[in-house]
Amino acid sequence: MDAETVKKVLEENNVRWVLCAFSDIRGFLQTFSIPAKVFMENSVFERGIGFDGSSIRGFRSIEKSDLVWMPDPATLKVIPWIDDPIQKTAIMFGDVHEPGPAEVADCDPRAYVAKSLEKKLGDDGMSVIFGPEIEFFVFEGIDPTRLAWDMWVSPNGGAGDSWGPPRVMPESSEIEPGGFFIRPKEGYFRPPPEDTTMEYRNELSYYLEKLGVFVEYHHHEVATAGQVELDFRPKTLVDVSDAFYLYKFAAKNIAAMNGLLATFMPKPLYLDNASGMHINQSLWEGKPFEGNPVFGDADDEFMLSQKARYYIGGLLEHAKALTAICAPTINSYKRLVPGFEAPIYICWSPRNRSALVRVPMYVKSPSAVRLEYRGADPSCNPYLAFAAQVAAGLDGIKKKIEPGDPVMEDVYELSPMKRKELGIGELPTTLRDALDHLASDEVLIKTLGSHIFDAFMSLKYDEWNQYCLYITPWEILKYIDI
Ligand code: GLN
Ligand code: MG
Ligand code: MG
Ligand code: MG
Repeated sequence: MDAETVKKVLEENNVRWVLCAFSDIRGFLQTFSIPAKVFMENSVFERGIGFDGSSIRGFRSIEKSDLVWMPDPATLKVIPWIDDPIQKTAIMFGDVHEPGPAEVADCDPRAYVAKSLEKKLGDDGMSVIFGPEIEFFVFEGIDPTRLAWDMWVSPNGGAGDSWGPPRVMPESSEIEPGGFFIRPKEGYFRPPPEDTTMEYRNELSYYLEKLGVFVEYHHHEVATAGQVELDFRPKTLVDVSDAFYLYKFAAKNIAAMNGLLATFMPKPLYLDNASGMHINQSLWEGKPFEGNPVFGDADDEFMLSQKARYYIGGLLEHAKALTAICAPTINSYKRLVPGFEAPIYICWSPRNRSALVRVPMYVKSPSAVRLEYRGADPSCNPYLAFAAQVAAGLDGIKKKIEPGDPVMEDVYELSPMKRKELGIGELPTTLRDALDHLASDEVLIKTLGSHIFDAFMSLKYDEWNQYCLYITPWEILKYIDI
């Protein structure tokens, strides 16, 4: 889509505002509105729009804070749930540039990391596609602060030594009218009326399709109540990352319109499944979807080519450092624990959902072969997370890293001895641990570039240090009588 088409779309849809979008380093969507009338002046397409980079996390220090947002016309979407003519808005993603010269700013995850990696890949005659499975929770009538407090201070909430007793049922006065109780671990594929989220998912899918994100499959997830997954059609690196933001943006807004709260926090509920983002990916020679699929080999027992195995080798080799980028919050590590279908060991497997890299086995043709990396969650910055995975996989191909034998057993049940025998390492168990691994991973540091690497590390060490200062109710319950 060029500038002329953008103008036409804005005019034909009576769009009054353009919401200009980009991402900070952490993965938070940033937006500002400008009148469509102003947007349609050519200068916006040529010169972009200036903003204060020092107010965006990780972008710029105060003394050289001027940055420029440059529109990417191809990403224009009219926001489909806004009808009021005074409010009519379109959203568009943009790249961040230095003021003056047409130079991409090294703090922009989209242009500096994802776009440039995709371009490099294209120059080598390759492409990559991703199909993320984004999970999240939708809560009704819940005040998040209250939820946190109830879970922590309830007499048996979290004080046990291992699993402890089940979560405390809410006082009867707190049970939402119309709410249903689903037994723990029985939420997967649960139909209405126990599943109260079907209509929300239908509505969200309807709007996502209008935003160019076509949902092929959606369902209630494993957790007790309100956990959902909507899977959309695969896209290329930059497109899939933009789609990730549209997905979250729509999910939160449609939830708010229905009096619900959508949260992408990985693990909001004690002793229940967390929200992950499994990332299905495949490499292509030539054009995505229509070129030559690199991962498939009809003669292999798992239909995997040698290059696919090396790619897995790369993902496993860089697994610890990758975790810092793909699971970048304190809360992410409450997900990466045994027993909830999230990975904890560094290994691969056909089928097995406890492995870090899974090769889905219901695939019927080599062109549909893909690898499912299960280590990410939806609190990540998608431009960085998707790019880092490709970089790790390509490094595996370049260095011919063998991934070892697939693990066929339930890895949660493997004894430490057996794990040692098989040479299976563990994923980092804290953000701090993961960051320390990232700090020595040259391939991933190079992928991020020095500015983003430094900014990411400093933001995230900060987050870790804040957390360390905090005394949790769990500790009071556990240690007060020592
Ligand atoms: N919620 C799980 C995770 O954290 C995945 C469960 C599933 O997809 N069945 O990765
Ligand atoms: Mg799924
Ligand atoms: Mg799932
Ligand atoms: Mg999956």
